[in-house]
Amino acid sequence: MKFAVRIDSERCKGCELCISVCPEKVLAMCGKLNARGQHFPEVVKAEACTGCARCAVICPDTAIRIDAEEDDR
Ligand code: SF4
Ligand code: SF4
Repeated sequence: MKFAVRIDSERCKGCELCISVCPEKVLAMCGKLNARGQHFPEVVKAEACTGCARCAVICPDTAIRIDAEEDDR
């Protein structure tokens, strides 16, 4: 099983909590801005995600969703 981290960049307020709690360093702030003028995270190490959902749980703006995906065969 692998996991996809879906980030709704328009909900993000750039607090970086999701980055701080990820034990696998999957997320990092990107250089872009959303419509609110906030930086938001992007997935930089997708293969390392364990699906623990810590990032999604801690996000104050419910901007992150974790989807489980079947492995490619
Ligand atoms: S689900 Fe867990 S491992 Fe994956 S990005 Fe979120 S905190 Fe990191
Ligand atoms: S925890 Fe949520 S609001 Fe904060 S940077 Fe991450 S996605 Fe954005």
